[in-house]
Amino acid sequence: MSSGDGVRSIRRGKVWLVGAGPGAPDLLTVRAHRLVCGARVVAYDELVSAAVLALVPAEAERIPVGRRAKGCRHHEARIHPLVVERALDGHEVVRLKGGDPFVFGRGGEEAEELAAARVPFEVVPGISAALGAAASAGIPLTHRECAASVTLVTAHAAAGQPDVLPDVTADGTLVFYMGLTRVEDTCAALVAGGRSPRTPAAVVSRATLPDERVVVGTLADMAVLVREAGVEAPALLLVGEVVARRVESVARREADGRTSGAAGE
Ligand code: SAH
Repeated sequence: MSSGDGVRSIRRGKVWLVGAGPGAPDLLTVRAHRLVCGARVVAYDELVSAAVLALVPAEAERIPVGRRAKGCRHHEARIHPLVVERALDGHEVVRLKGGDPFVFGRGGEEAEELAAARVPFEVVPGISAALGAAASAGIPLTHRECAASVTLVTAHAAAGQPDVLPDVTADGTLVFYMGLTRVEDTCAALVAGGRSPRTPAAVVSRATLPDERVVVGTLADMAVLVREAGVEAPALLLVGEVVARRVESVARREADGRTSGAAGE
């Protein structure tokens, strides 16, 4: 049965690069839910919510990975060595990634590395934070009257690369990932680049989780509002006229008050 490239290949397993969504466990895809609930080996990073991790069987091996994982110093390495190791030993490894693996999740790099190591893998999409936050906050990402495009942007360029700003003269919606510590710089850069300081903006933190916060303002006052509200990571910055089109369900507003209490509301 050997394919001729070593004993290990006979038992080669598989890595599932699984999108864990923005946090709420019922926003997992059906496929992701099946994989998580049946997992024997799970690797996850700090973005994966506790509620999603609670679905992992108690007997499963858990491998915390990612930049803040304890004792983890493989900042530049893309996939945790144990993930490859387990797969080469014949295990199916569920590699959970917050949101969608291919949206700022380094899923592309991990896939490349798995391919190079000849480890079979499959990608399971997830609801990216921008989609979860928009739905949860009632902010449409596009709108026929004011936003014909939506651009997903990272507020942090890779080390050594210049920060990338999208075409700020376009009037589409911009969603900045990893933006909480960069809100001030990002808003200032957009204004310097030509966007009106009155452009509506919102920060949505911990979207879809019970402690979600929404702070609404403009490019001019967003940084101050966010500081005053003391919002916590992870958070997204949404910019564009769509923020002014925010529609909240009356039922939801009355029922949970999740989005009340933040500055700018
Ligand atoms: N692959 C992920 C993004 C990873 S980058 C996805 O598709 O969503 C990490 C950034 O995503 C965070 O810094 C934050 O900007 C954003 N993010 C992830 N989960 C979030 C959440 N629940 N609420 C708000 N922002 C979130």
